[in-house]
Amino acid sequence: MRIVIVGYGPGGAAAAIAARMFNPEAEVRILTEEVLDAHKKPGASLALEFPDTKDLSINDWSISSLAKKRIDVVTGTSVISGNPKSRSLKTKNEQGKSTVKYDRLILATGGIPNIPEIPGTDLPGIFTIQNMTDTSEIGRQLSEMNEVVIVGAGFSGLEAAERLISLGKDVHMIIRSRFMRRQLEEPMSDELQSRLPQILKLHFGLAPSAVLGDQHVQSVLLGNQQVDADAILFMTGVRPNTALAQQLGAKIGSLGGILVDEQMQTSVKGIFAVGDCVEMKDSYTGLNLLLPIGSVAARAGRQAGVAAVGSTKIYGDTSKRLQYDRIFGNDVVCVGHSSTSAEDLGVKTKVQYVEDPSEFSKVALVIGPRGQLIGGQVIAARQGARLGYEILERVEARAKLKNQPLLKPRHERLRDFLESTFGPIQ
Ligand SMILES: Cc1cc2nc3c(=O)[nH]c(=O)nc-3n(C[C@H](O)[C@H](O)[C@H](O)COP(=O)(O)OP(=O)(O)OC[C@H]3O[C@@H](n4cnc5c(N)ncnc54)[C@H](O)[C@@H]3O)c2cc1C
Repeated sequence: MRIVIVGYGPGGAAAAIAARMFNPEAEVRILTEEVLDAHKKPGASLALEFPDTKDLSINDWSISSLAKKRIDVVTGTSVISGNPKSRSLKTKNEQGKSTVKYDRLILATGGIPNIPEIPGTDLPGIFTIQNMTDTSEIGRQLSEMNEVVIVGAGFSGLEAAERLISLGKDVHMIIRSRFMRRQLEEPMSDELQSRLPQILKLHFGLAPSAVLGDQHVQSVLLGNQQVDADAILFMTGVRPNTALAQQLGAKIGSLGGILVDEQMQTSVKGIFAVGDCVEMKDSYTGLNLLLPIGSVAARAGRQAGVAAVGSTKIYGDTSKRLQYDRIFGNDVVCVGHSSTSAEDLGVKTKVQYVEDPSEFSKVALVIGPRGQLIGGQVIAARQGARLGYEILERVEARAKLKNQPLLKPRHERLRDFLESTFGPIQ
């Protein structure tokens, strides 16, 4: 059996490993435009400082460790078209064009950066970060940049801002409404903002209307104000990359992603799709969502990999989500739904806030109509991930807070800790 996977991000790599684990005999091959080992995108911002590093790879997913599992990674290769009747793909690389046959195909083609359609975005000095090659390129040009403008106020924009400031750059952020509007409640956005250094220059309330410059980016236009820039990073998210899927005849949903069933199979039998290119089913409402998150892509990849080799196993946790990052010395964690993402799906929510000043943490708990916890957010100087996992546990158990309270008083937590370390305390 020939399993061919297009894409070598978390979705593609996890699919390949799962297919191999469930079928030791199958031929498993990844085709990718990527030229480097698989790497963590969050880590990609390190390449701003060390543009020539090759050391950010994820060990388990490196080309050499996949080769040990008899998974062949063909890099520098674009899949330009496919034919589901003959189960074949046309590819192109430096050696020329060729044809690859498959029995089962998994598309993990990721997303395309959202760059707004405004004048000037084709000038040199405009960047996005989708992979380490992008970041390394910015890193190589960094000595010519003093003023850097970042458009977008999500995790990856903040990560890039932190690293650029540490490298001595003047960094501006353009934020249309507030920080992480879809993931954080408004008071949590405010909390995050209050913890950012003053040196980061923030411009709220406007989207850029043009990029100005002659041979190179010189400034960005915000209303009637011009912000000088030697480089502009558009960190404005991605939209599903569905060109190949569409060409293969797979159905696309109203959100622009490939439609899949619970095994991650598309509308074309034998073709699966995972990651940023698909629409996922929200486990709470059953409605479709775009979830461009690495861990979701990896879990979907695992599901597609086992299904592609014939297993009927369904994992129930594919759309589970916990995003964690450490930003300017703070843990920022988002679990499940925010009130914004839930209300977009027609779910009414209440939000409860818990503060623990002694631990310098603020927590938002998003409660659904039946009193169950459906999501939460944490901003904390430390231990944020632990709290995030406590929230996730309750979201997955569909627990009510009165049955499973969060943030027990400090002395109770200390007692629990001592008991788990030294045994029962009378
Ligand atoms: C800067 C940044 C930071 C991030 N931080 C986090 C984080 O902290 N936590 C988290 O969970 N998520 C994070 N994400 C999101 C996460 O990286 C993505 O959700 C994840 O990479 C999606 O995985 P994927 O497998 O769908 O596709 P991708 O990782 O986007 O990979 C797509 C692959 O498809 C290949 N490809 C596409 N078309 C073709 C074709 N026609 N032929 C051949 N190959 C093709 C590409 O070469 C690539 O290998 C971050 C993203 C960015 C950009």
